[in-house]
Amino acid sequence: CVLVGTRVSEGHENYVTAYNMLTGIRVGVSRCQAKVDRELVASDFTAKHKFTFDITGNELTPSAKYDFKFKDYAPWVFRHLRQLFHLDAADYLVSLTSKYILSELGSPGKSGSFFYFSRDYRFIIKTIHHSEHKFLRDILRDYYNHVKNNPNTLISQFYGLHRVKLPFGRKIHFVVMNNLFPPHRDIHQMFDLKGSTLGRELDEELAKKNPSATMKDTNWINRNMHLQFGPLKRQLLLAQMKADVDLLSSLGIMDYSMLIGIHDLNRGNRDNIRDSILSVYEPDMSHHALIAGPQTQSTAHEMRRAVNTTGPVSLDRSCYRLPDDQFMERRHFLFYCDDGGFRATDENNQPGNFIFYIGIIDLLTKYNYVKRVEHFWKGLSHPRSDISSVPPPEYAERFLGFIANSINPSPLLLRATPIKRTE
Ligand code: ATP
Ligand code: CA
Ligand code: CA
Repeated sequence: CVLVGTRVSEGHENYVTAYNMLTGIRVGVSRCQAKVDRELVASDFTAKHKFTFDITGNELTPSAKYDFKFKDYAPWVFRHLRQLFHLDAADYLVSLTSKYILSELGSPGKSGSFFYFSRDYRFIIKTIHHSEHKFLRDILRDYYNHVKNNPNTLISQFYGLHRVKLPFGRKIHFVVMNNLFPPHRDIHQMFDLKGSTLGRELDEELAKKNPSATMKDTNWINRNMHLQFGPLKRQLLLAQMKADVDLLSSLGIMDYSMLIGIHDLNRGNRDNIRDSILSVYEPDMSHHALIAGPQTQSTAHEMRRAVNTTGPVSLDRSCYRLPDDQFMERRHFLFYCDDGGFRATDENNQPGNFIFYIGIIDLLTKYNYVKRVEHFWKGLSHPRSDISSVPPPEYAERFLGFIANSINPSPLLLRATPIKRTE
């Protein structure tokens, strides 16, 4: 299943990389977290910390299964960002690193980035190109200020920026971010929208065969889809979108998308994606995963103590987290507080039958030379309005226009999803 991915356990070709990523995060994050909190200073934004891991270990780094190097970028800034995103440090480490299990989604986009889910499905690790990594470091201060001033921002929540270097020299840069979709709700339809139509279609046959595949702008239009929000939610959503997109435009960013997952309350969880998630993460322990009460608490407690006092700890003894008790941090966010998302409303602002999970993702493409060339060549044969690579202000305006036009409180538009062909 596209939404669940493949479990990366010992023997998997990317197991060593995944293990190294998680070990680095565990040590880097708990080291920073063990210090007394303080205000950020300018140098925190450019800071980087190097760790060298080997099987023997030393006074700075505990022993690891493999030899590798790890770099933690701007650890204090990300510590503060995690606070702004209401993440508890101990929970973060338990979710990500307690069992060294990730689930690999492979490379769903064209960029070649790999995506991994934490085993409770709460966090995503995305490998990024060196240029994206550099760019995130360049804009980190603006990103941080934006998150601080916009507690309900819809843009991706970045929790960490790191690099692992394997002994034969390969460097892998990656970010940790929020998974927009909660594990306890089936996502019945998913769209990645940019506001342009050229090349923005998932083949309808494929879409029908695989309902969890991500559809695009043309599918959205052909299926007559809408975000079903009444005046109140429409105004809130558009105001936040505008603030977010203004930031992206001012930083010269384009090619981002609005990712939308739709949960139909009438259909509920009949498709049982949640069960298949549990079986992927804990093939023989799903029963424990469902009943892990006291164990979970004691491990979180143990972690918290360890994080607060001693720095890095081994989490191998840890237990199973229950997806239902995850996402508590979401209640703090306007757009993620209706069961992890934003519930549909009608003309009178009364609740409807859908929950929308909405976020702005893929923020690290700067409108640079490559994009300009792409724009020039595509511009020769296609109308400007259809091409996705246009300068940032134009991209932002078209993006916002597309979303504003996509909001309609009439429930009929969502219930009936006729599939028209364009030809
Ligand atoms: P490209 O540059 O070719 O568009 P990419 O490798 O940069 O691709 P993204 O566009 O970031 O990848 O994401 C690809 C897909 O992965 C999305 O369409 C979505 O299905 C899934 N995805 C990405 N980010 C998230 C997220 N935060 N939560 C849930 N799913 C996500
Ligand atoms: Ca993308
Ligand atoms: Ca991308």
